[in-house]
Order: sequence, then C-alpha cells, then structure tokens
Amino acid sequence: MPFSALGLAPALARAVQQRGYTQPTPVQLAAIPAMLRGHDVQMQARTGSGKTAAFVLPLLQQWLSGTPRAPRPLRGLVLVPTRELAMQAGQTLRELAHELPGLVKVAVAFGGVSINPQMMGLRGGADIMVATPGRLLDLVRHNAVHLDQVTCLVLDEADRLLDLGFSDELNEVLALLPPRPHRHQTVLCSATFPPPVKALAAALLHEPELIELASATAARPDIHQRAISVDADRRLVLLRQLIKDAGQDRALVFVATKYATELVADKLGRVGIQAAPFHGELSQGARTDTLAAFKRGQIQVMVATDMAARGLHIDALPLVVNYDLPRATEDYIHRIGRTGRAGGVGDAISFIIPSAEAHFRLIEKRQGLRVQREVVTGFEPNDSAATQAALGPGTGLDPNGGVKGKRQSKKDKLREAAKATRGR
Ligand code: AMP
Repeated sequence: MPFSALGLAPALARAVQQRGYTQPTPVQLAAIPAMLRGHDVQMQARTGSGKTAAFVLPLLQQWLSGTPRAPRPLRGLVLVPTRELAMQAGQTLRELAHELPGLVKVAVAFGGVSINPQMMGLRGGADIMVATPGRLLDLVRHNAVHLDQVTCLVLDEADRLLDLGFSDELNEVLALLPPRPHRHQTVLCSATFPPPVKALAAALLHEPELIELASATAARPDIHQRAISVDADRRLVLLRQLIKDAGQDRALVFVATKYATELVADKLGRVGIQAAPFHGELSQGARTDTLAAFKRGQIQVMVATDMAARGLHIDALPLVVNYDLPRATEDYIHRIGRTGRAGGVGDAISFIIPSAEAHFRLIEKRQGLRVQREVVTGFEPNDSAATQAALGPGTGLDPNGGVKGKRQSKKDKLREAAKATRGR
C-alpha cells in the first residue's frame, strides 16, 4: 500500500517520497491511520521500525489543519529519553515538514548543554517540541514554554524513559498538560512492555488502538542474528577478524562498562582499525563528534555501552556485535535493532563466553527466539574452570557475563582494572 493511501496530505506524501520511502513500514501502516483518526495509540515498536515517521507524519498533518497564531502555541509534544533521540526526532520532523506550506517551528531540547540557546529558540513559541523530560521542566520553570495548549502528546521509547529514572519528571510534565478533552490524543511507543510501562499506558491512554508486532524477531527478517561461542580472552582477536572480514564496513560493538569501551577501542586502534569509545561519561561535545565521525565513516568501529547507545540512529549499520551480552534481556532487542534498518540487511553477532551461556538462554527465552550457536575455527572455546577464572582481568569485563544479580562491586571493578593495567 502506498503512503498516499494512508490519508496523508499531498505535501507530506511528497516529503516522504523525497526521503526515499517507497512503502510504509508495518508500524507506519497501522499507526498513521489510527493517529489521523484522532485515536490514542499504544505502539510496540523499536528503533529501526520506522516508528519516528509513524508519529511525526500525523503530528505534521495536525499542524497543517491548525490555524496559525502568534506567538505559536505548543500543540505537539514528543518526550524522549535521550538527547540523541531528541535530535533524531527533531531532524525527522524538520525534513518531513519541508514541503508544507509555511514554516513549522520545531523546538528540540535536552539536558547536558546550556539552556540559553534553547530558551532563545523558544521565543515566539514553537509548534512542535521534542524534549527530554528534565530539560523540558527546566524550560517550563524559566517560563520559556507553556504546555497548556498541547493537543497531542507522544511518549517515545517509554520503557527507556522509565528505565532511565524519568518517572518523576514524567509525572510532573503530565500534570502540566491540559486534561481531556483539550489534549485529545496520546501516543505511547515502547519496544517492550514490562509492568511499569503497561501501568503507564493504562493510566494515560484512552481506548487506545493497539499496534503490536507478532514477535520481536519475526518482524525483523532484515537482521541476521548469530551467536558465536568463544572464550572471553579470545574475543578481541575474533572481533578484529570479523571486522576485517567485513571489509571497510562500520560496526557498533557493545561492551559492559565504560572501561571496556576504552580498552577494546584502544586495542582495535593498535591493529589499524579506526575505533572510538562511546560512553555516558564523555562530554556531550565528544559524543556528538564521535557520532558524526562514525556516521561519516571516519571511525570504523564505535565501542559503546548501552547507556550511551540508547536511541542512536545510524543508517544501514551492517554489523552490531555484542562483545558482552546485555544485562537486561530486553536490551538485546534494542541493540540488535541498530542493524538491519529499513531497507538494509545487517548482522547482529553475540559473543557467548562459557559463563554467559545461561544468560543468553534466558535472553532467548524472554525474547522468544532461538539462535544457533556457532564455533569459529581457531576460536573453539575451551570450556574449563580456568577459562572462567581468566575472564575479567584480561579484558576488564564482567566475569559474570552480565548475569543479572551478580554485579561486581565498584571496588571489584577497580581492583580488576588495576590488575589488567598491570598485566598489559
Ligand atoms: P526509526 O525506527 O524511526 O528509527 O527509523 C529507522 C530508519 O528507517 C530511519 O533511517 C528512517 O529514515 C527509515 N524509514 C522510516 N520509514 C521508512 C520507510 N517507509 N521506508 C524506508 N525507510 C524508512
């Protein structure tokens, strides 16, 4: 079914075409008509599903049907968990608004940077705003924005909003929004629906249309998942080999700790692979620069923690590697969703060290999938107690293989890091 059959205005259908989208994705097919009908929507969708355009297009169509006013009252509000996601949604809004008659004023706000330019940007109001909850509240406190005219609220990546501890801020924002029927539409997107997200959806949505993907993986034939059994201390060499085999393509590598991002990136750099760490303790400027260099292909491999990689948007990433498995099982789906984005096929490779086998089985069970274990010639695991004992020190990684509830203490980590440094 073409976009034009979804009930979108011709200017939006043109913008979509210019962006190179020929067919709506399944999420768009379901969500766009539902939103255009004015219904609340509960959308199970991950990054990579086309979810952003799914809510951005109806938001823009709403703008189109409104009457221009000065100052511009904020009508559409998109709450996101991270600055990267805020920038990406803002960019999609601006790009898809391109063909509309008149200027849609889109404001983007997130913390970690000076608030002043964001306040300046809100002078004269804004039509649609994308924001992280904390910074939005700061802007409200500064009187830079008012939420009492919002007609459509979108919560993007609601599971992450709650995971990242935004629940208090979220409640504060919700209390500032106009009650129904003035705010006539709420949309909640989430990759996963653990009980807190279900409770939020139940409290917020009014007779929502439910958009669910049949299964997390069945809907993603574009991701080729692989699981390679390997010993912990052989992962780095295997990673180098896989990256070299993949040619000049870029790869996103997930590790468990900030320390590991630096160690792995450093070791890759020593064998001539352009790699950079990406973690939450880097300054916002360093993160933006790294991301931009990675997108331009100046950096071939980005070694990231989950926290830093949340909501990242990188087109057609061919390879994602779980060097360490994610602690939280639902993060597996988020991570592998960074590859195989609309229109491309990607590989998602997980390294399964012997001590993490049970945890990977749990991920498979919880996510309803089964991934064949592979062994790469020359990297056959040597499944012995000695291997397990050797895990942490050589790599700076979690010897528990990311199994929940067996976290190392900070002291243990520091001790291991010091030991690893001495061993190098
Ligand atoms: P999202 O899930 O919103 O992060 O989108 C993932 C990627 O899919 C982005 O690069 C979008 O530009 C792209 N995309 C969204 N909708 C379509 C579509 N209908 N056809 C092709 N690509 C799309």
